[in-house]
Formats: sequence, structure tokens, C-alpha cells
Amino acid sequence: MAERCPEDQITALAAELRRLDSALPLLGAESPLELERLSRDYYDYSPVLVPLLQGCRAQLVAGATTVEQVLLVAGACARQGVPLTVRGAGTGNYGQCVPLQGGLVLDLSGLNQLRQLDEATGVLEVEAGALMGAIEKQLAPRGRALRLVPSTVRSASIGGFIAGGSGGIGSLRWGFLRDPGNLLGLEVVTLEPEPRLLQLDAAASAPLNHAYGTNGIITALRLPTSEAVVWQQLVVGFEQWGQALAAAQALTSTAFELNAITVLEAPLVSQLPWPAGCPAPEPGEQRLMLLAAPAALEVLPSWLAARGGALRWQAPQGQSRGLPLRELSWNHTTLHWRAQHPDWTYLQMLLPQPEAPCLERLREQWGDDLLWHLEAVRQQGAARLAALPLLRWRGEEALQQLLDDCRRCGAVLFNPHVISVEDGGLGVIDADQVAAKAAYDPAGLLNPGKLRGWLNSPG
Ligand SMILES: Cc1cc2nc3c(=O)[nH]c(=O)nc-3n(C[C@H](O)[C@H](O)[C@H](O)COP(=O)(O)OP(=O)(O)OC[C@H]3O[C@@H](n4cnc5c(N)ncnc54)[C@H](O)[C@@H]3O)c2cc1C
Repeated sequence: MAERCPEDQITALAAELRRLDSALPLLGAESPLELERLSRDYYDYSPVLVPLLQGCRAQLVAGATTVEQVLLVAGACARQGVPLTVRGAGTGNYGQCVPLQGGLVLDLSGLNQLRQLDEATGVLEVEAGALMGAIEKQLAPRGRALRLVPSTVRSASIGGFIAGGSGGIGSLRWGFLRDPGNLLGLEVVTLEPEPRLLQLDAAASAPLNHAYGTNGIITALRLPTSEAVVWQQLVVGFEQWGQALAAAQALTSTAFELNAITVLEAPLVSQLPWPAGCPAPEPGEQRLMLLAAPAALEVLPSWLAARGGALRWQAPQGQSRGLPLRELSWNHTTLHWRAQHPDWTYLQMLLPQPEAPCLERLREQWGDDLLWHLEAVRQQGAARLAALPLLRWRGEEALQQLLDDCRRCGAVLFNPHVISVEDGGLGVIDADQVAAKAAYDPAGLLNPGKLRGWLNSPG
């Protein structure tokens, strides 16, 4: 990996920070375990990323609780030429917050105030380090909710979700984070000797959305919220995979108000930690997990029964014991499976339509090395199925072959085994992201090595 920042620059930076703000929490070489902990995320889901990232560690960690402290740290890093990598809660899957060149990690978990909720419009202004679970708790009594949350909603920060995430629960209704309308504005600190505090509107914020913190430090976000709904968690069993798939496909074109549709193949179903009171699956049972509005419950069970689905369990979200259903979905399915099968990894893709031929072809080619987990989403306004299959690890060559097979059958891959923003997305360089980096981080010190378009740019 790239070279680490020279120690004398780190020493000079620490001295400058102590002089500027003696109360700023700083961790250095005397706390190696903390430096290690605050330099990691969940990249060990990928056997490709582990050897690339495991030696990368911050040389200094600063914790900011105010925007003034962020400005102070940004200015000092720029003056001393020290790389700065922002950390929310460190729950990313691809090493997004791992500092490839060491330097300083800026921990924003203490910058976490809900600044304002406009009761008339539902527009929320919140500081970047706030945990989404905490935000939900503050919004609920006011009848509002976050539109989109990852399955790590309880442990992840809102700034980290916008900078490093893509979508999740709610994507069935609201699409992905980068879809226009999901982010209304950002407050951003630049990385310059005299850092600026910018208020960006929706258009100017777009290049910082899913840029891994390479082109600006987000200190606060403006987001639309939705009406709060007490989502009913439903578990539906099917005997046949084809029935479960067909029901999921058909549900996306009904008028039932749904916030999530997850389809799980029997081997995964048999090993998930189902909520208390939810019956253990029958042998070979395939399952649908749904989050449905209460009004849907009058008709949904009979609609599902007509398609071979048996309602196994239901409970309002927030009122069941054990894990809530949303912590069995998205990459939590991966987490639970890997807890028992650490030699497995995963993939992420958007399936072509119709989905069944692609799934059948991959099943023929890969057999039980690939186990299917699907999530219904809205992509550019249309209902689609995304897949997060579990994959038995058989080495990088086999992985490459699988990626090629998926592409050949028309799937769009979001490869979780790469470190750059572009390679984990559509593979193309976004000129606006690179231009924002030139404007807000002209020395290229923010999370270096993650924006391929910057590494490739002349000069
Ligand atoms: C079990 C599991 C399930 C998951 N499910 C989902 C899911 O459903 N959907 C999904 O999208 N993701 C999912 N993820 C990935 C991750 O949890 C989310 O994307 C999460 O929102 C990241 O938030 P964080 O605070 O942990 O960010 P971090 O991991 O701390 O940071 C993520 C990236 O954002 C940057 N960053 C953080 N804060 C800022 C800031 N204030 N300014 C600028 N840059 C910043 C970091 O440098 C890093 O590049 C999952 C991960 C796991 C382990």
C-alpha cells in the first residue's frame, strides 16, 4: 500500500492541535489499540480486501464535537500536509474509512446534534456524526421518520451513510441515496490552510454524496423525512423458491404500502436468528420478509396465501423481542451467515429483468456455492430486484469468473471487493466528484487513494 505520512509531520501536527485547542481529544502512538480500532470497518467480509487493508492504521485520531473543532483540525492538517480521513461509526463494508496512508483520522461521532426539524415541510437538519437510530428516536414523537436507512441503522452515522452508503430499508419507496430529492443540502468544511465552511444546496451537494469523504468534510446534512409509519414486520414461508420470487415480483406492482421486501433462499433461512416468537423454518422453507403499513394487513395475508405463502409471524417494528426484521436484511444477512461460515463472502448487484433466467443460469453454473438473498428496490423510478448473494470463497480467480458470469447474464455489479469509489459503483469516473475535490481539497489530503478519478487526473 501507499507510504505512511512521515512521523515528524505527525508530531508537528499534534503539537499544533494541542496549542490551538488543549481540550481537543487526541490519540497518538501511546494508544496503538485505539488507533487500530478507529482505523477499521467491516472490510473483512472481503478476502480480497483483507491483505490490502489490514496494515493501514491512523497515526493520530482527533475527536471533534463542534464545527469549530472540525475547522481547526482541517486547517492544521492542510498546513502540515497530513492526510485526513473522516470516520463516522466505522460500519462500512469496503474499507471506506480505512486511512490508506495513515495520517489523521477525524472521529465525528461526537458531532451529533439534531439542529432542526421543520414541522411544515418535514425537512431535517442534523449534524453528521448523529447515529440514525438516535435520529429516528427524536423524529418519531414528531410523526416523522428517515426515508432511507441501512440495516446498520442502530450503529451507523447519518454522515457516514451519505458519504459511504448507497440505500437500504426504504429503497423500495425512495430509491437510492444518490437519486435526486434524497439529499437537500450539506454543510461542508474544506481542507485548506484557511478552511472554509460552505453551505451547499442539493445540486452542489451531489458530488459529495457517496464520495467516501474524499472531497469535503460533511458537518451537517439537510434531508427530507417521511411520515412515520408503525411498520408491521411479516415473515412469510413458501415451499418453492419460484413462488417466493414470483410473490416478491408481484408485490412491487400492488398498491400495498410496503417499506421492504426481502427474499431468502432456504439454506439462509435455516440459519438466521429469527425474532422471538417466530417459528423455526420447516426444512426447505423459503422466506419473504416484509415491512408493511398496518392498512395492508387486511388483505395481504390472503393475497400471499393465494400465491403459496403462509404468514408465519407478524409484529410491529420496535415492539418485538430479539432482532428486528430489518437486522436480518441487506448486509445483515451477510453478517449472520458469515458468523457461522467465515469462509464465505458476498456480492452485490442489480438483477436484469426478468430475473428468473439469470438466477437459473447462475444457479446451474455455481450450484450451492451461491445462495440467493434478494431485496426489492426502486431504481430510477422503476421496481427492480437487487441481489446480495452469499458466495463460498474459492479464490480470486473464481471470483473474477463469477463477476464475468453475472455481467454476461445482464446483472449490474456493485463490487464489494475493491477500494475505490468508482470501482465499487458503476466503474466510471464522475467528473463532478473530481472537480469538487479540486475545489475543496486541492492538495488531495482527504481519504487519499479512494477516488480513482483524482489519482488519474493530470497534475
Ligand atoms: C452488517 C452490515 C449491514 C449494512 N447494511 C447496509 C445497508 O443496508 N445499506 C448501506 O448503504 N450500507 C450498509 N452497510 C454499510 C454501512 O453500515 C453503511 O453504509 C453506514 O451508513 C456507514 O455509516 P458509518 O457512520 O459507519 O460510516 P463510516 O464507515 O464511518 O464511513 C463511511 C465512509 O464515509 C466517510 N465519512 C464518514 N463520515 C463522513 C463525514 N461526516 N464527511 C465526509 N465523509 C464521511 C468515511 O471516510 C468513509 O469513507 C452495512 C454494513 C454492515 C457491516
